[in-house]
Amino acid sequence: MIRCPRCRARLNGEGYCPGTLPLLDPRHDGREYGTAHQLIHQIGGDLTTGTINNWRRRDGLECHRVGRTVYSPLDQAAEIEADKRLGGRGRPRQLDATLDAAA
Ligand SMILES: [Zn+2]
Repeated sequence: MIRCPRCRARLNGEGYCPGTLPLLDPRHDGREYGTAHQLIHQIGGDLTTGTINNWRRRDGLECHRVGRTVYSPLDQAAEIEADKRLGGRGRPRQLDATLDAAA
């Protein structure tokens, strides 16, 4: 079985990675949504499906189920990725800081 070197998805019969398919707009809200594999291809870096799943579980990355497939918005995923990359772990979120200041 051949897997994509980038996102580890199983290649389809024609040797294409499903992660390279165009993003969808299943909610017709003008945002682009992708599977974990698609998000890895779009965002790049050293992401894995495990990372995307962690974002879904811990960081509030939205999930939208279409049939048996779960899609998440690219813009939100990119935001989380940038936040992790630039801020590192344990940095208080900006929203929290604002709330602290207001208290
Ligand atoms: Zn791939």
